[in-house]
Amino acid sequence: MQPDPHLHLARKTSPGGSGLSTSAGRAAELNARFAHAGATEVLQAAFAEVPDIALVSSFGADSVVLLQLAARIKPDVPVLFVDTEMLFDETLQHQRRVAELLGLTNVHVIRAKNTSAQDPDGTLHKTDTNACCALRKTEPLQQALAGYGGWITGRKRHQSGTRARLNMFEIEVGSTRLKVNPLALWSAADTIRYMKSAQLPRHPLVAQGYPSIGCAPCTTPVTQGEDPRAGRWRQTEKEECGIHFVDGKMVRSGDKT
Ligand code: SF4
Repeated sequence: MQPDPHLHLARKTSPGGSGLSTSAGRAAELNARFAHAGATEVLQAAFAEVPDIALVSSFGADSVVLLQLAARIKPDVPVLFVDTEMLFDETLQHQRRVAELLGLTNVHVIRAKNTSAQDPDGTLHKTDTNACCALRKTEPLQQALAGYGGWITGRKRHQSGTRARLNMFEIEVGSTRLKVNPLALWSAADTIRYMKSAQLPRHPLVAQGYPSIGCAPCTTPVTQGEDPRAGRWRQTEKEECGIHFVDGKMVRSGDKT
């Protein structure tokens, strides 16, 4: 079993609910209790706190790390994968390969129910990327998440300035849904080290210059020295896909997922 880079800092925890009456208080208590915990322990706590929690994954460049950590604890965790029908073929192949490799038994492929009305020829991304992301990503995910009490993401503090203070446990504003970020404290080096140690497969496009991978029309390779996310929505003002929403609305956070 591969070491969790932060596990050596883990504190003793007790399973079960926090007993706090408000969701915000519950998240705060969990953050205090798990401030120095490893990702595995955070995941265990998440599963204990919210039995109907789902894991949302893009099966992107390093998504396999969180998926592997979760699969070791709960291989039947519901994994929500949004297929925008604009993804690289390599992503779809990687998704199937990783799910099989890790023994994930409960992967849900989420697609927009009807794109033909708003995007009949699949070119909406050329004229309105926000509308396209809402149609193909945000709204289908939001609908899928409605059936769950919380969700787990792979977001990390180092990924952007807007994530620099990311907590491991959050509550969506205006909701009681718990959002858990077990890898929040992981550095890029932690991720690479873990993947090598565990011999986990990277997304095949990473080797072709794509350190951050979204939809095919909106993702380009990056050159040496560029921000790893520079290839997402290149030459546009767009900075995020809206997948992380607050109060049922897209968050203009500058995050690229
Ligand atoms: S990333 Fe591009 S193609 Fe994918 S949903 Fe957003 S705008 Fe559409």
